[in-house]
Amino acid sequence: MLFHFLRSMGTFCLLWYGIAAFAQPFSPGTSYFGNEQYIEYLAGNMPIILSAPHGGLLNPSSLPDRSCSGCSTVNDFNTQELARALASSIHEQTGCWPHLVINRLHRRKLDANRDLEEAADGHPVAGQAWADFHAFLGIAKEQVSNQFGKGLYIDLHGHGHAVQRLELGYLLYEEELRLPDDTLNQSNYIGYSSIQHLVGNNLQGLSHAELLRGNQSMGTLLANRGYPATPSLSDPAPALGQAYFSGGYNTATYSSYQGGVIDGFQLECNRTGIRDSITQVQRFADTLAVSILDYLGRHYFSESMSSYCNSSVATEFTPEDLWSIQPNPFCEELTLKTDVIGKEWELEGYSFTGQLLFQQSLGETNLIRLSSSILPGGWLVLRCKGEIRSVKTVIQKCE
Ligand SMILES: [Zn+2]
Repeated sequence: MLFHFLRSMGTFCLLWYGIAAFAQPFSPGTSYFGNEQYIEYLAGNMPIILSAPHGGLLNPSSLPDRSCSGCSTVNDFNTQELARALASSIHEQTGCWPHLVINRLHRRKLDANRDLEEAADGHPVAGQAWADFHAFLGIAKEQVSNQFGKGLYIDLHGHGHAVQRLELGYLLYEEELRLPDDTLNQSNYIGYSSIQHLVGNNLQGLSHAELLRGNQSMGTLLANRGYPATPSLSDPAPALGQAYFSGGYNTATYSSYQGGVIDGFQLECNRTGIRDSITQVQRFADTLAVSILDYLGRHYFSESMSSYCNSSVATEFTPEDLWSIQPNPFCEELTLKTDVIGKEWELEGYSFTGQLLFQQSLGETNLIRLSSSILPGGWLVLRCKGEIRSVKTVIQKCE
C-alpha cells in the first residue's frame, strides 16, 4: 500500500448499519447531481479537491434573484470553465481524477461561498442547492481524509482588481502578510492559516512563511511558470492600498483552519491572460495542474502522482442515502429515520430564513419525531463532527 490509510474508528464518522441496500459507489470521473441538477459533483480518487462556487450559468426563472442588501450577485467569469479544464488536465497528467464540486447556478440565484442565510436569501430551492454543494464537498473531504490522511483543497475564483496577478488566500489578511516571516511563524498566526496542518506535516519541514511565500510556495511555483502571484517570493504581500482577497467561507470551512488534515486556499484569478478567452483558460489550467502536482510532490507525497489512484477504489454513499423523512410535506408531525447513529452525528433544524431552531445529538436513536411547533418547515441538517453531510428541505402543509 502506497499511502497509510487512516481508518481508526475514533476519527471515522461512517457508523453504518443497514446501509448495504443503499450503497451507491461514486465512480471516479463520473458526475453526480444534486436537486434539479443545480450542483454537480465530479467524483475523484486522489487527494485534490476543487470547487467553483461563482461560475454558474443557469438562471432559472423559478428561482428569484437574490436581493439581500450588500450581497454580491456578480459572477466570476470563466471560472467554471477553468475548474473543468483543470480537472481534465490533472486527469491527463496522472490518470487520476480530482474531486470537483461546481455550483451551476448563477450568483444571482445562489452564492455558494457564503453562509446559508446570505447564500440562498431565504429561498428553499436555492437553500437545497447550497446544501447539496456543501454535502458533496463534505463527502469529498471525508473520502480524501480517510484514504490519504492529507490533501489539498482549492476554491477557484476570479477577481476584478487592478493588479493583474493571482491572489492566493490563506485566510491571512493583507496587513498580516506584510508582517515579517518570524512573526508569521508564531503559533497564533499559524492558527489563523488555512494550511496549518501542512505547517506541522510537510516533507521538508518548511516553516509557515516558507510555505506561504518561500521559493517552493504555490505562489512562487506559479510565478516561476509565468503567472505572477501574491504571496510569493517576488511579491510577498499586497502593498498598502492594493485590493486583495484573503479567502472566504469555503476556504474557512474545508481547509485545516478549523482542524482536520486537508489544507486549502482560495485562488483568485486575474482576468488578463487567464480568463479572457477559452484558449487562455486552457493554457492556465495546464500550468496550474502542473504546479499543483509539483506542490503535492514537494510537500505532501513523495511518491509519483500517477500512483495515487491505483491504491483503492473510492466508495461512498450519496447524502440522500443517510436518512429518510416521512411524510414530507407534513402537517403536525414528521418522522426522521437515519442510517447513522452516534454522538458524533448532530441534527439541526433551520427556518427558511436560516435561523437555527433546534440542535440535538443523534446519540443511540435512529428514529426521531419532530412536531411542527419545533420545526414549522425549513431545513434539516445532518452533521458529523460539525461538518454538513446532508440537508433536506421539509415543507409544512395541512389539508
Ligand atoms: Zn468569487
